[in-house]
Amino acid sequence: MSNYHIKNLEEYFQVYRKSVRDPENFWEEIAEENFLWRKRWDKVLEYDLSKPEVSWYKGAKLNITENCIDRHIYSRGDKTAIIFEPNDPSEKAEHITYKQLHERVCKFANVLLDQGVQKGDRVCIYLPMIPELAVSLLACARIGAIHSVVFAGFSSTALHTRINDADCKIVITSDGSYRGNKTIDLKGIVDEALESCPNVKTVLVAKRINSKITMKPNRDKWLQPLLDDAYHDCVPVIMDAEDPLFILYTSGSTGKPKGMVHTIAGYMVFTAYTFKNVFQYRENDVYWCTADIGWVTGHSYIVYGPLANGATTVLFEGVPSHPDFGRFWEVIQKHEVNQFYTAPTAIRALAKERLNFSEKYNLSSLKILGSVGEPINEEAWHWYNDNIGKKNCPIVDTWWQTETGGIMISPIPYATPTIPTYATLPLPGVQPALMDENGDELKGNLVSGRLCIKFPWPGMARTIWGNHDRYRDTYFSAYSNKYFTGDGALRDSTGYYRITGRVDDVIIVSGHNLGTAPIEDAINEHPAVAESAIVGFPHDVKGNALYGFVILKEFGETRVHDNLRNEINQIITEHIGPIAKLDKIQFTTGLPKTRSGKIMRRILRKIAENQTSNLGDISTLLNPEIVQEIMDGAIK
Ligand code: ATP
Ligand code: MG
Repeated sequence: MSNYHIKNLEEYFQVYRKSVRDPENFWEEIAEENFLWRKRWDKVLEYDLSKPEVSWYKGAKLNITENCIDRHIYSRGDKTAIIFEPNDPSEKAEHITYKQLHERVCKFANVLLDQGVQKGDRVCIYLPMIPELAVSLLACARIGAIHSVVFAGFSSTALHTRINDADCKIVITSDGSYRGNKTIDLKGIVDEALESCPNVKTVLVAKRINSKITMKPNRDKWLQPLLDDAYHDCVPVIMDAEDPLFILYTSGSTGKPKGMVHTIAGYMVFTAYTFKNVFQYRENDVYWCTADIGWVTGHSYIVYGPLANGATTVLFEGVPSHPDFGRFWEVIQKHEVNQFYTAPTAIRALAKERLNFSEKYNLSSLKILGSVGEPINEEAWHWYNDNIGKKNCPIVDTWWQTETGGIMISPIPYATPTIPTYATLPLPGVQPALMDENGDELKGNLVSGRLCIKFPWPGMARTIWGNHDRYRDTYFSAYSNKYFTGDGALRDSTGYYRITGRVDDVIIVSGHNLGTAPIEDAINEHPAVAESAIVGFPHDVKGNALYGFVILKEFGETRVHDNLRNEINQIITEHIGPIAKLDKIQFTTGLPKTRSGKIMRRILRKIAENQTSNLGDISTLLNPEIVQEIMDGAIK
């Protein structure tokens, strides 16, 4: 079906125009021809963005697991659905076929039913990247329970806040997890979290690391014996299109996490459609997204999007640096991966290492490379393109958010010509708008402003769990009848979008609005620089001035720092202009990052402003220890 699978630029424009002219018809055809419905919808779209209330496929009935599993059993029953690649390369990979996935999901669903979980109940999942994680999501969806996955690197405080916010009655976890050469005591973290979660009555524990743990009587149960006894089939609960599928808290780069609620039908259609097009998935391809299922990228593009397309998706337990920095490339060679989707933070970390890690492996199976999570800077883009893609694989720089459910702006491989640092064009059905400070839409090209979406799309979140007012205030109040993304972007002369960073991070220097991404991109061009982050600090004359935190590559450390400072400002002057020169440049060995690997600029801002007594919530930081080092080295 041509609407579903775009093959060239002309077709993209044709389909895109159609999707804007008549969005309902566009999304209706896609839904009609590519999914299994138990009852057809009464209305494709109903919306009022002032409230905001949005429903897609209203009146339709379905179960998403029938779409992700059951319907593939006849045509692809013995095809591998999930390849599980363990943390330790010497442990055997596991290939789970669609038939086996069906049985595992049904058994798990029956266990949940036995434990009293009912349609609409919230289930907290705090598991490492093992098959049970994907299976548990689908098992919830099978019986209409709402899953709330919490990334298994979060602390007990972050966990109990999320459990209580969603009022979960049951937690699924494991005895522990592997992370490189370390193990993490997940069960211990859960025990600590549950001290302040009175409503959790049951904890199901998967065995992964065989550590000695204490099981609390009447509350904690080993999962495996229950699965062994469970019946192998489970009738799917038929759900309404707009019933919630899951709650997922945003990554926490900017402040208190928000429990975004996604509903079944629209999310399914949107993730399936975007997966198919952005990764140009073909029947026997092996697709690998390195994200954790604890993030939206894992929900949409490890589990739901790929499985709805009957794809083979890799589930990787490990980390890019264990046993060495060749691990990603080894896995690509081993499973002959065709599409590879990762984050700029991983690319930058790997690009810092010697090249022979990637040169050792045969990467010729690769067809498409993807990036998500942060702006990918030009240097990292080229490294990825040259050394991994061998200049032969289109790079899809995909811009989207937890709130959007799926990819919004991205090249379509072989159709959209790519340019480094540009997410390029909106996918069909996505209508971006750039807004100026007065709340007016900037028309035409060569403009830069705040990125909004001016028409509903099926994958959009419907609310924040338990706090619809916050949902409205955060996303729909800045500009009337538009979803405000919180990001800034520019549209170039050809209509391509470049994300310039978060609007909160925009710094006004002498009256000029400066986005963080283009400046960091310029700094990272310096051969001695591995990574950088800039923030503003108050300045008597300019209003604000720029403070740069810069990580050097190994050889950069031996250079005279003042010379480096001059060279960095030279590059900024060449790329952007003297207005963007940095007043202060601090060299550091690390930057504060969220657990999803994003730079947390608000902490750097406090340090630059010398307001270190109140750093705010740092519980979602991956590397809290770096904060002290940076404070000690701060330039006053
Ligand atoms: P929080 O909303 O809690 O502060 P977060 O915004 O980091 O956390 P996510 O929903 O995981 O949570 O991330 C979405 C954000 O990541 C986008 O708004 C954007 O700032 C950034 N982002 C994602 N992909 C890209 C990309 N391809 N290019 C530039 N920025 C991106
Ligand atoms: Mg966000």
